Amino acid sequence: MGLGGATAAAALTHRGCDVTVFEQASEIREVGAGVVIWSSTSRLLARIGMTDTLDRIGVRAKELPAFDAKGSRIGGSPTTGDDGAAAYFLHRAELLQIFSDMLPPGHVRLGKRCVQATNENGRAKLVFADGATEEFDVVIGADGIHSVAQHAVVPPAPPIFSNLAAYRGLVPNGPGIAMDDGAVWTDRKRYLVAYPVSSGRLVNFVGVVPSQGLPEGSWSMRGSLKELRAEFDGWDSRVGRILDAVTETYLWSLFYRKPLPRIVAGRIALLGDAAHPMTPHAGMGFGQAIEDGFGLAVLLEGCTAAQVPERLRLYEALRLPRTAEVQDITRRNAQFFHETFPLAPGEDRPGGIYASRELFGHDVEAAARTILQKAGDARRPVP
Ligand SMILES: Cc1cc2nc3c(=O)[nH]c(=O)nc-3n(C[C@H](O)[C@H](O)[C@H](O)COP(=O)(O)OP(=O)(O)OC[C@H]3O[C@@H](n4cnc5c(N)ncnc54)[C@H](O)[C@@H]3O)c2cc1C
Repeated sequence: MGLGGATAAAALTHRGCDVTVFEQASEIREVGAGVVIWSSTSRLLARIGMTDTLDRIGVRAKELPAFDAKGSRIGGSPTTGDDGAAAYFLHRAELLQIFSDMLPPGHVRLGKRCVQATNENGRAKLVFADGATEEFDVVIGADGIHSVAQHAVVPPAPPIFSNLAAYRGLVPNGPGIAMDDGAVWTDRKRYLVAYPVSSGRLVNFVGVVPSQGLPEGSWSMRGSLKELRAEFDGWDSRVGRILDAVTETYLWSLFYRKPLPRIVAGRIALLGDAAHPMTPHAGMGFGQAIEDGFGLAVLLEGCTAAQVPERLRLYEALRLPRTAEVQDITRRNAQFFHETFPLAPGEDRPGGIYASRELFGHDVEAAARTILQKAGDARRPVP
């Protein structure tokens, strides 16, 4: 169960849907690293009563300033929404545990690898590697960038390698580091972001560097501390102190997709990285998965089995334009952070990091209610 599926299951359960989660792994786990959520998603989590939890396990972002490699400031902006919703720095495993605790007992089935999802006889059918099959009114494919469920919606195609890899890791937030907000540094070839997580006890870092790709067939592997430090050698002393404290790091090849033409087929809908994987340059991949789950929950709340295909079409109409915009912003940020990241024909390289209150002001639940209302109005007979 990834963060996207876990959030969607929590949001759907909160709205009275009966949810079963199938996870291929034999245990619930997330890579021991951090994640940023912005106000567009913290306001959704607040509505299911999570603000105290976020304040307990996370750290509120203040400004997230950006610096050049030597430490001169090049950007930064307030991260709190106009309605007071905060952005948070969180530890992935802690957040995943909280979402999984919100599900009724017995509704997460581990060791179940799905090999096929199809629409059959008015139901959505799943086939598992152990030979078992299950049928549901709706299947939500939240199975990540190598999604099997995606094959039911669009022809299979491999994700695109970005020619970038990310070092990730955690260090104690001790003397010499003492971070109470996040920060980003870049020399326009690579960048490093660091922020406090776990109530401020740890600092998470992500260092994104040019890469030829990891050995065939591997998406992530243990990284070399020597090579990590060499990538950021001579940078701001704050970067040096963080990297000096690293004892273990993992290296991830970064892949993405261009916006898909569809994310729904019949009773099967895609969510999170299965629908719109993006590189981490706007810190919004998980945020889009949260919006997917909360928007879907509004659309599916109280609907009958017969209404599901129409509600999923509304989900697609709700989410495709928004996620395509965020994927595009992410790509533009990647062009800013890495002078080698390709430009589309006629595009100029961006002069700064994209950040927009409008982007973070989006309220997917309000948007879902509007789209539902309009669809209802369109169906109402003209008197
Ligand atoms: C370096 C880095 C930093 C990032 N930082 C941020 C950030 O700060 N903010 C942010 O919003 N986003 C960030 N992201 C993006 C974010 O991590 C992802 O968008 C998010 O984790 C995707 O969640 P998901 O649940 O959709 O997919 P995944 O996390 O990939 O989960 C998929 C789940 O499905 C399971 N699964 C897969 N296939 C099957 C199958 N066939 N059968 C059964 N189960 C299956 C997997 O085991 C897994 O548990 C970052 C990404 C990277 C790489």
